[in-house]
Amino acid sequence: MSRITIAIDGFSSTGKSTIAKELAAKLHYVYVDSGAMYRAVTLYAMQHEFINEGYFFKDKLINNLNDINLSFHFNESLGFAEIFLNNVNVEHKIRTLEVSNFVSKIAEVSEVRRRLVEEQQEMGKNKGVVMDGRDIGTVVFPNAELKFFVNASADKRAKRRFDELIKKGDKVTYKEILKNVKYRDRVDSTRLDSPLVKADDAIEIDNSDLTLTEQFDLIYGIVKSKLDLRDI
Ligand code: C5P
Repeated sequence: MSRITIAIDGFSSTGKSTIAKELAAKLHYVYVDSGAMYRAVTLYAMQHEFINEGYFFKDKLINNLNDINLSFHFNESLGFAEIFLNNVNVEHKIRTLEVSNFVSKIAEVSEVRRRLVEEQQEMGKNKGVVMDGRDIGTVVFPNAELKFFVNASADKRAKRRFDELIKKGDKVTYKEILKNVKYRDRVDSTRLDSPLVKADDAIEIDNSDLTLTEQFDLIYGIVKSKLDLRDI
């Protein structure tokens, strides 16, 4: 069966990565969480005190980009690849609200984007990849055979994210999560470099009222018919 590139873009906390992970596992494709890469760069900037409440030393981050090494390592028991920052597993550390609060500022920096886009294109060069993010169908793989644009109401997204963080034991309030979701929506879709926009040829999915299973069935059905058509 021929292998294709599947791009899944959309607003924050739409559950893109859950869909992408499941899809990749089912198709035996590689899954790449591009948001994890922006989060890992953000964690690096926080650890080096390049960014915090009230300041962002953008030039320092740009000058140190060559010291940032990102890699993904497949975790058999989890069934997906975890991200490593300079050989340290940071999969959990990058998911905090603190990182979420700074990541969109980091993702505005063109030098950061250029570097990460190059790495993403390298990871997907042999196809057979499902990548999720904000600019995958528009910038990273504009020729992807299949593109999805996922959305849901801000309230639903914040609620899902809140439940996820609480389950992990994080001390957060629904109000601050909703604020973060709305803030990232705004910054991500209005930035100058590679703003979050739906690619013209992306299939839009609003999953506000879909269960995970309904959503997966819908998307998998579309993927299957695309693959079947190509292999006829
Ligand atoms: O997907 P996730 O919510 O983990 O992404 C975190 C942040 O990384 C986004 O809010 C956005 O600022 C940035 N991002 C991006 N381009 C991507 C993926 C993520 O700008 N392809």
